Amino acid sequence: MPYAVCPSCDEEFMVRGNPTLGQRVECPECRAKLEVVYRNPLELDFAYEDEDDWLEDEDEDDLDEEELEAE
Ligand SMILES: [Zn+2]
Repeated sequence: MPYAVCPSCDEEFMVRGNPTLGQRVECPECRAKLEVVYRNPLELDFAYEDEDDWLEDEDEDDLDEEELEAE
């Protein structure tokens, strides 16, 4: 699994799975909200403080479920 370094506290930690550009990651040490800015080597930067993005993702999941039920 790829290692990344937290830009906030310099903690080195593993990112599970196959990280993609823009993926949101939370530092397990300082709880900083980060996002993947480079994949090889894996590099993280502070994520924009945009709560709407997180809420939009949840809404999309709900819509998918409703569409499945309708059919
Ligand atoms: Zn950190």
